[in-house]
Amino acid sequence: MSEEQIELLKKKLVVSLKARQQLERTYEQQFTMLTNFINRLSNVCKGIDIELDNRLAKLRAHLNKNTDIENIAPLMGDIEHLLNQHSTRLSLNIKQTQNSLITAGKQLQKVKNLPSDLRRELRKLMQDISEPKGSILLYLPTLNRLVSLYQRSLLLSNGGQDLSSEEQANLSALQSQVTSELINILSNIAFSGENADKIDAIREVLSTHVTADTIVNCCVEVIRLIIESITEERQSAQSFLFSLNDALNSVHTAVATSINGSQEINKSKQQLNEKLKNDLAGMSAELSKATSLDTLKKQINVRITDIVDALNQKEQLEVEEHTLLVDSLSEMESRLKELEKEAEEYKKKLSEQRFKSLQDALTKLPNRASLDERMELEYRRWMRYNHDLCVAVADIDHFKNINDTFGHSVGDRVLQIVAANLNKGLRETDYIARYGGEEFVMLFPESKLKDIEKRLDKLRIAISKIPFKFKNADLTVTISMGMTQFKAIDQPQSAFDRADQALYAAKSNGRNKVMVKY
Ligand code: GH3
Ligand code: MG
Ligand code: MG
Repeated sequence: MSEEQIELLKKKLVVSLKARQQLERTYEQQFTMLTNFINRLSNVCKGIDIELDNRLAKLRAHLNKNTDIENIAPLMGDIEHLLNQHSTRLSLNIKQTQNSLITAGKQLQKVKNLPSDLRRELRKLMQDISEPKGSILLYLPTLNRLVSLYQRSLLLSNGGQDLSSEEQANLSALQSQVTSELINILSNIAFSGENADKIDAIREVLSTHVTADTIVNCCVEVIRLIIESITEERQSAQSFLFSLNDALNSVHTAVATSINGSQEINKSKQQLNEKLKNDLAGMSAELSKATSLDTLKKQINVRITDIVDALNQKEQLEVEEHTLLVDSLSEMESRLKELEKEAEEYKKKLSEQRFKSLQDALTKLPNRASLDERMELEYRRWMRYNHDLCVAVADIDHFKNINDTFGHSVGDRVLQIVAANLNKGLRETDYIARYGGEEFVMLFPESKLKDIEKRLDKLRIAISKIPFKFKNADLTVTISMGMTQFKAIDQPQSAFDRADQALYAAKSNGRNKVMVKY
């Protein structure tokens, strides 16, 4: 081998030594990098699985000692196996998470009365959830969205108020207290007929789990039914008094007749007795005139005297008996009169009570509500007894002008004066109410249409002559009236409408008139 060749080989060796050193350095750097990376990765994986943690710790130790690859190969095989197991478990967990989210979402969809925007968002979220994801972490945003939808729907079911748990507890305690109080009240009031069924239905609703809204609605309904029943009861009490009064009147008449009758009978009895006495006395006189049978005469005379005495006594007894009967009958009559007075007072008290709620504040006449009641009552009496019943509607003429010219308070005064005058012109059994505005309605039971027409015309004239004086100006106030009589086919409304049509005719015919519609 030549020197040159040796020199060349040396150079080559030096170059390859350098290259090897370079290679070794690079390898070492890469190994350190890989070791660091595996160290960090295994630290991140810590806590997932104990077995995996152990193997990774061992791997880190080997790598830090620069162990040969052959030594760590089996360790890596174990780790790979554990990682595979973990991955299977992870996919199972992902599936379970997805299923739980779907179930929770569906549950929320079942909630009633959710606002439509919330429901739309929920539908979109359900679509997102149903798409498969590779990691549980990817489900976190959907979970957040679902939780916020739940929160919103909970707030809504609290009536928009975010109540603390203590407030919530107080509220439900109050609700159940109100509910049981209401049920209690319902059990203590006796309702009848249709209202009883309605109350039963309410009680049934209240005995289930109810919301605050339902309780409020039930309360309102109960109050309405109670008012309705009170009105009904008042009306029935009133008609009871009317019928009691009727009954008392007829008993009164019967007793008076019976007293008169027994006085009559007594009189005839006295006459009869008188006659008997006279007859017997005559007989006795004739017998005493006879000449024979002297003793017999005496005896007969004695007997006849006895008979006369007995008859006298009997008559005396009958008179006493009669006096007793008359006394007891008069006693009965006076007691009946007392009873009648009591009923009258009761009726007065009742009407005073009614008056307070059924009176018009301005004119002090009965108001519209009172008219409705009275109309119904008179209508029923009219159906029962078939006596005549007339209804009239009166309306002040050009009343608006009075207001416009003299002011509202003068208008009020005119209303009061006209109302008082109309009222004054009526009889005790007649009835008048302020129907509204400057209109009045009158009822005339047991009255002939012709008579009422005459009386109303007098009233109309009287009102037109009232000397009104306001602000030094003379004022004439006139009224127009329409009237009619109840006919067989009539209901209160149809008769009223006919009277109203007659009023309209009076207005069209120049006002200050009374018109009749048959
Ligand atoms: P007509 O002859 O056609 O009945 O004419 P009118 O002006 O009397 O009838 P209209 O119905 O046009 O007017 C009635 C007026 O009565 C209108 C209203 O302001 C007035 N009014 C209603 N109630 C009262 C009240 O209590 N006091 C006063 N001062 N005016 C009232
Ligand atoms: Mg008018
Ligand atoms: Mg009017």
